[in-house]
Amino acid sequence: MSLPRIPDAIWQRLSALLSGELRRTELGLLVSPHLHMSLLARRRATMIVNRVRLFAFLFAVLTPLWSVVDLVVFPFPLWINLALLRLMAGAAFATLVLHYRPSGELFDAYRAMALLFAIPTVFYVVSFSLLGNYQLTGLPAAIGAGYAYLPFVLLAGLSIFPLTLVESLVIASPILFAQGVGGAMRWPALDWPSFAGAFWLLVLITGVSMLAGMSLLAFMIALVRQAIRDPLTGVFSRRSGVEVLELQFTIASRSDASLSIAFIDLDHFKSINDQFGHEAGDKVLVDMASIVSSNLRQGDMLARWGGEEFLLIMPNTDIAQAQAALLRMRAVGFGKRPDGTALTASIGVAQRSAEATPHWKALVDLADQRMYQAKQDGRDRLVGQ
Ligand code: GH3
Ligand code: MG
Ligand code: MG
Repeated sequence: MSLPRIPDAIWQRLSALLSGELRRTELGLLVSPHLHMSLLARRRATMIVNRVRLFAFLFAVLTPLWSVVDLVVFPFPLWINLALLRLMAGAAFATLVLHYRPSGELFDAYRAMALLFAIPTVFYVVSFSLLGNYQLTGLPAAIGAGYAYLPFVLLAGLSIFPLTLVESLVIASPILFAQGVGGAMRWPALDWPSFAGAFWLLVLITGVSMLAGMSLLAFMIALVRQAIRDPLTGVFSRRSGVEVLELQFTIASRSDASLSIAFIDLDHFKSINDQFGHEAGDKVLVDMASIVSSNLRQGDMLARWGGEEFLLIMPNTDIAQAQAALLRMRAVGFGKRPDGTALTASIGVAQRSAEATPHWKALVDLADQRMYQAKQDGRDRLVGQ
């Protein structure tokens, strides 16, 4: 086997194991978030915040509850201090649950995770110094040793989040670094072989958590890919079309930018089904979607809105530019009917700032009405304004 083939062979083996999950071109998505499309980013942000809230809820209940165990084993002054600390941590977790709602923004998701990790980190530092004042033996010493495991729990907890390699590294590094610095500060008195063993275990747990997070992300990418595409034509589904339009409408309104949409309805499509059968109709739809997709400009997006109706979303495009793009599209055509004649479409165009529509739905309604006008005027035409 020649050298350049080896990566191909490895990839083939891997992809057989991960069948249907990830394409080779999507591997970079597991490394860093900068290539994630906005639909993936928004769903991931929502999932991360929901997981943070779930865990914050569990910890809000369990952290104070553990005081019962502490009460049995620890001397009173230590117990009351730890119980107060646990109550404060529980309250902090509860605040996180109550005040954080998914916004779809990745920045909010990062902040939620940082808070989720910051609370136990503070708890760890304070409890460690409290326990350091006591020489415990027997069962209390065993329970006390449990407090030292918090960094392990934190890094194992990373595995529940669908994170890229870079994101996991950014979160795990400070915890590993702090653990290392903590060890270095106690160096003369440190039982270094056991410290090094524990540190190595921490690194291994971090590695496994990163793999778990990336495989969760790979699974999510595959699911989002399936959910956002229309299974017949491969263009965006109506649901993702709505998501994109909502987002683009908000962005355009904020910066008062232009946003054009075109409602495209194929002419006399029913007669294709009636004359040549449903499968022939399907093929015409697939061909049409593929022709239009290959003529889209960068940033434009095509969604299948209904049976033979499509919505074209054109951000940063004024009405004249949109009409020019659609005229070019009409010149290329929409493909052929099974009898060889040209497939035509009636198109309604609308632009956000020109119409001052308050909501994306109103903009779609307007484009829809203009499409109907195009039908009434004799089909195979474009109606703007
Ligand atoms: P008009 O020029 O007025 O738009 O006429 P039309 O026949 O295109 O419009 P109409 O709304 O009467 O019919 C749309 C047809 O599209 C009806 C439906 O059977 C067909 N259709 C919807 N979805 C699919 C699909 O997924 N595959 C196929 N083959 N046909 C579909
Ligand atoms: Mg129709
Ligand atoms: Mg039609």
